[in-house]
Amino acid sequence: MRPLLLAAAAFALCAFQVFSSETTRLIEVFVPDAASLASIDRAGIDMTELRGKPGGWIRIPASDRAVRSLRSSGLTLRILIENMEEDHAAQVRPLGPVNALGFGIGSMGGHYTYAEMARQLDTMKLLYPNLITNKTIIGSSFRGRPIFAVKISDNPDVQEDEPEVLYTALIHAREPAGMMSVIYYMWHLLNHYGTDPEATYLVNNRQIWFVPIVNVDGYEYNRKFYPSGGGMRRKNLRNVDTLTYQGSAYGIDLNRNFGTHEMWNSPYGGSSDDPFDDTYRHTGMVGARDRGAERPRLRSRIQGCAQLSYVGGLSDLPVGVPAVRDQ
Ligand SMILES: [Zn+2]
Repeated sequence: MRPLLLAAAAFALCAFQVFSSETTRLIEVFVPDAASLASIDRAGIDMTELRGKPGGWIRIPASDRAVRSLRSSGLTLRILIENMEEDHAAQVRPLGPVNALGFGIGSMGGHYTYAEMARQLDTMKLLYPNLITNKTIIGSSFRGRPIFAVKISDNPDVQEDEPEVLYTALIHAREPAGMMSVIYYMWHLLNHYGTDPEATYLVNNRQIWFVPIVNVDGYEYNRKFYPSGGGMRRKNLRNVDTLTYQGSAYGIDLNRNFGTHEMWNSPYGGSSDDPFDDTYRHTGMVGARDRGAERPRLRSRIQGCAQLSYVGGLSDLPVGVPAVRDQ
């Protein structure tokens, strides 16, 4: 009887997982005027992923919960894709072998996994020992995974009197294009040092820090459930059940948790105080965990910072830099 019981228990577990998992839908919402946009904002949806404008249909990825919230607020909506994770995964085609000796293809829909990213950093050190540091751990994620950083410069292991800059990526676990851009740029600097004047100048005169994956837990979570790519989890894994795929349940949006408390806790849109929303900002600063870039020993020295947080062709600009549209 025991095997049968076990089988029944396994089936019950599977059934539970199916019913409790959460998917992301691609929806269109009819937004008659600008005021109606506020309802979308209140549903905790990241407005930067919005396509369309008031007076028509607006296209947006939305969790089950966000769909319920939008419907209850009286907005008309239609569902274009029932399950974006499955839809993405079905579109992934094998692109070729993972290239270990330079920039190439990763195994997760073409993007590097967390482990492949770490191996890329090791390979860079192996091929260019005088231009890059060994990878260092600048913090650990909520689940205890190391957050890696490296520095590219001439005399990389020496703290020289040169301006320091920082590149970070993948703070949102479903935006790996930023991480690939960072890795590509690192290879560009290393491969062209001594031949390209700009790369040579930057390596000689700057200390350039890189944190290619900030939200390592969220990214690994997407890999676990969608190993070929397509996972839509965005936030970190605080209070998240890692046995079940949960698109937006719990977790903190690390990209809504910067600066002073007054700044990140702003109620004026763009972030949410509901833990289930995709833009949940949290009540305290995450700081030491899940965001190695915030670690004081780096923060005290950095003079410029670029965060590559790519979604739909958008890139964040530092505070003080004028907006550049349609580029
Ligand atoms: Zn993002």
